[in-house]
Amino acid sequence: MPEVVDTIEIDEAAFRGSVVRPGEPDYDLHRQIWNGSFDKHPALIVRCAGVSDVIAAVKFGRASGLPVAVRSGGHSFPGLSVADDALMIDLSPMKGVRVDPEKRTARVQAGVLLGELDRETQAFGLAVPSGIVTHTGVAGLTLGGGIGWIQRKYGLSVDQLVSMDLVTADGEFVKASADENVDLFWGLRGGGGNFGIVTEFEFRCVPLGTQVLAGPVFWPMEQSGEVLRFYRDWVAEAPDDLMTIVVHRKAPPLPFVPEELHGKPVVMVIPCWAGDLEEGENFIRPLREFESPVADVCTPKPYLTHQAMLDPSFPPGRWYYFKSCDVPELSDEVIDITVERSLQIKSPMTSFPIWQMGGAIASVGDDETAFNGRKAVFTYNIGGCTETSEGFEEEREWVRSFWSALEPWHEGVYVNFLGDEGAERVRQSYGPEKYDRLQALKQKYDPDNFFRINQNISPS
Ligand SMILES: Cc1cc2nc3c(=O)[nH]c(=O)nc-3n(C[C@H](O)[C@H](O)[C@H](O)COP(=O)(O)OP(=O)(O)OC[C@H]3O[C@@H](n4cnc5c(N)ncnc54)[C@H](O)[C@@H]3O)c2cc1C
Repeated sequence: MPEVVDTIEIDEAAFRGSVVRPGEPDYDLHRQIWNGSFDKHPALIVRCAGVSDVIAAVKFGRASGLPVAVRSGGHSFPGLSVADDALMIDLSPMKGVRVDPEKRTARVQAGVLLGELDRETQAFGLAVPSGIVTHTGVAGLTLGGGIGWIQRKYGLSVDQLVSMDLVTADGEFVKASADENVDLFWGLRGGGGNFGIVTEFEFRCVPLGTQVLAGPVFWPMEQSGEVLRFYRDWVAEAPDDLMTIVVHRKAPPLPFVPEELHGKPVVMVIPCWAGDLEEGENFIRPLREFESPVADVCTPKPYLTHQAMLDPSFPPGRWYYFKSCDVPELSDEVIDITVERSLQIKSPMTSFPIWQMGGAIASVGDDETAFNGRKAVFTYNIGGCTETSEGFEEEREWVRSFWSALEPWHEGVYVNFLGDEGAERVRQSYGPEKYDRLQALKQKYDPDNFFRINQNISPS
């Protein structure tokens, strides 16, 4: 338990939300984050009910000198939403979502999770492009870019942002949009939590409708080499209506996976078609007919169902470790390494996605946002997972070694898929030009690096 606790005085009456201290009944509940491999003990948790609480918490953070960690959905891979002996500013109680179906916009508070936003937008057949697991936070995901199932048709989460409300390191409330604090608006669309605490996002909604054609097609993992070679040629011609993710893993015992496959190593290609369903059936047919898949559950279904499909594979509390990279193509060498390493997977919980990028993401100008992966072609997010610490070290070594084997083909990395990998990797993620521009922005908005428990951009 942190020693500093007895000496901290905080005016609890200044908060509409709650202040949680070590030793109190809810302390363990609220300090927990998604990745069970982090067991941090903050000095104090402020659970914010609204903007005034965020302002008060930032001012208290300054006055107390405590380091500050900001939590929204708590899904940071390297556990950057909590820290030992820190002030944890927890936005998860801020759950407001308001969709305006006529203007096709959504106002979303910082504590909202992807599934909560989807429920509200889908009531009107609308959507905000986001990620692939519903319990991820809108805030952290959006501030890094936001990639997901409809990205190739509708772009990143940041591509649909209209404005953001932000509390700066001085406790000032500012807005960022195409008309106001334009430099900040640029930096927040990819620059993460470096410039302040975003309390509310305003998104444009896209007219997705409520149905997609989606779901995995399975082959035994030994066939992965042939499947990936077919797949790379097939997706090269894909229209932007199609997004795919390839997953290698031992098939999980989930209702959508045929029982005879449970525990068997498989490769799955998961299409998600966000357009006319008949056209989708036609385009996806050659994949489904390739070399007699062992199972095929690609079918028209509600978007909400598809968004939740991978939830059981990534529950909170397990031990996770990720390393990620973009590769320019699925060359024969890259495929061979992928097959070889996938066949070594030990843990039944380890599952790693290869993301098809491009489409609408690549049609936005590279300079328009701080997000730096517009030219990415495929993104590897190599992840190892165990239930507890048992076997974790071995999975971590597998991840590191696989990632290193791909090193000759590395081309950038998505900042939200970075682990705790040091300043140089953050710089690499943005590239030198964007990083310099982000540093200047950091100098303007947070010269003391008050917000530093994040993928940190140091002030210039
Ligand atoms: C199971 C899982 C699935 C994922 N799937 C996807 C995916 O499909 N697409 C994708 O793009 N990414 C995905 N990610 C990565 C995800 O985008 C990042 O982990 C993201 O940071 C999570 O946001 P959060 O609000 O849940 O996390 P948190 O841990 O709460 O925050 C992450 C970081 O953002 C900062 N931050 C959080 N809220 C704010 C705020 N309101 N203002 C300023 N800074 C803030 C925090 O300080 C921290 O540094 C996934 C992650 C997990 C664990």
